[in-house]
Amino acid sequence: MTEKFDVIVIGGGPGGYVAAIRAAQLGLTTACIDMNTGKDGKAALGGTCLNVGCIPSKALLDSSKHYHHLQHDYAAHGISVSDASIDVGTMMSRKDSVVKRLTGGVAQLFKANKVKHYHGRGRLLADRQVEFTPHDASDTLNLQAENIILASGSVPIAIPNVEFDGEYIIDNVGALDLQETPKRFGVIGAGVIGLELGSVWRRLGAEVILLEALPELLPMADTDIARQAGRLFKKQGLDIRLDTLVKSAAVENGEVKVVVEGKDGESELSFDRLLVAVGRRPYTEGLLDEDCGVELNEQGQISVNERSQTSVRGVWAVGDCVRGPMLAHKASEEGIAVAELIAGKAAHIHFDTVPWVIYTDPEIAWVGKTEQQLKEDGVDYRTGSFPFAATGRGLAMGDAAGMVKMLADAGTDEVLGVHIIGPGASELIAECVVTMEFHGASEDLARIVHAHPTLSEAVHEAALHVDGRAIHRGN
Ligand code: FAD
Ligand code: AMP
Repeated sequence: MTEKFDVIVIGGGPGGYVAAIRAAQLGLTTACIDMNTGKDGKAALGGTCLNVGCIPSKALLDSSKHYHHLQHDYAAHGISVSDASIDVGTMMSRKDSVVKRLTGGVAQLFKANKVKHYHGRGRLLADRQVEFTPHDASDTLNLQAENIILASGSVPIAIPNVEFDGEYIIDNVGALDLQETPKRFGVIGAGVIGLELGSVWRRLGAEVILLEALPELLPMADTDIARQAGRLFKKQGLDIRLDTLVKSAAVENGEVKVVVEGKDGESELSFDRLLVAVGRRPYTEGLLDEDCGVELNEQGQISVNERSQTSVRGVWAVGDCVRGPMLAHKASEEGIAVAELIAGKAAHIHFDTVPWVIYTDPEIAWVGKTEQQLKEDGVDYRTGSFPFAATGRGLAMGDAAGMVKMLADAGTDEVLGVHIIGPGASELIAECVVTMEFHGASEDLARIVHAHPTLSEAVHEAALHVDGRAIHRGN
């Protein structure tokens, strides 16, 4: 017998589960197939983000930040501790309980919204049919829907001559679950994931070396911000080696030997653990039957148009398995938009105003164009900036490294990009996103009352500085 739904979603990450809930809210009968299993052997919704991505990494970043502050920063506040220690096992259990609470929360939301959850693999067949293979590999089921949303996510990229073994040579899953602090922690790739997870283990005392093939750090960020980040990370003891290409890695006598090619030729490094964080690729293995008609592009992503429609009518795709930034909030917004389009509503996403955040200390966040992009595009722009070191709140907190940089059109004053490195950057970027979404000008931000003393005053002052009238810095 074939079970019928209005919508079937394959994948229960932030793209898929959010699409399923929104579709159900709109009165559509909805099923979500997700194959992920948690550490306790039970179904765990939420995909990469909740289980082995955004959430566990932030939990560990927070724990390790407390430990680092305790050792290095509290003395200035007159707080002294002797014999500070960290129990990595307890830190990991706390992380696991945060994950479980959230994945369980998604299951509850499914129940409340009457989304039917199938725990196992989904495979798209022709004619909007889906074959479901349960997690326990019992008999397959046939499901059918008017509309199908593919949200199968992504997996880590492997590089030639570096094989994951899950113990010494690890990906994000392994690096988020180490049971003790490695003495020497190597990271291939100084991108977002490499920097975040490298920071966790550095703060806990590991010697961390990041091996980065490119000649510059964070090329996608604004150059001023990336340079400042490089200086601050170096001060924290993160040893970032640019222009360093990893050629191979192998485990020998309980350590990882890595061969790298740098400016001075080939050399070998040894680590206790090696994290491979060279990016992620769309995951579509076993998802598409050869008769289903859905096409992939050259990057292996599911081909979609600007409305997230695939090459087959009634089949949609969202999140990491399609074009665009691999970010949880981008996946979720696509999921909501698709559910609304299916229900006959108008929906669209402005990809130009998707914020980016790197949760290092200080945090880095941006929205819109970088200065180098504006130069390349030949746009006439004005710049304003403001250092957190000139904010009362930053100084009072003892956390005042970094700055806000704002770019606005020289003619219309529309905000074209905002780049922040500093305390609370992940939260501060929100008002800049709102401004850009409403095509606001730097003058708009400059005329909005910002509470004192807050870190948001740095955004306000950067907006004033665009017009050369910042109050607390020379213009
Ligand atoms: P996923 O979350 O990957 O979910 C896909 C789900 O589909 C998985 O559960 C998978 O098992 C399931 N699935 C796949 N194929 C099938 C099938 N055939 N049948 C059934 N189920 C299937 N993004 C941010 O925005 N902020 C962050 O701070 C952040 N931190 C990150 C930290 C790390 C360490 C990592 C690895 C990623 C991070 N990301 C972050 C990226 C974020 O996790 C992804 O962009 C997001 O999870 C993508 O959502 P998705 O729904 O497209 O896919
Ligand atoms: P991200 O895509 O943000 O996760 O970043 C991944 C980083 O890994 C990029 O900056 C790549 O340049 C880098 N990278 C990819 N392959 C290698 C390699 N073989 N050796 C060193 N760095 C690499």
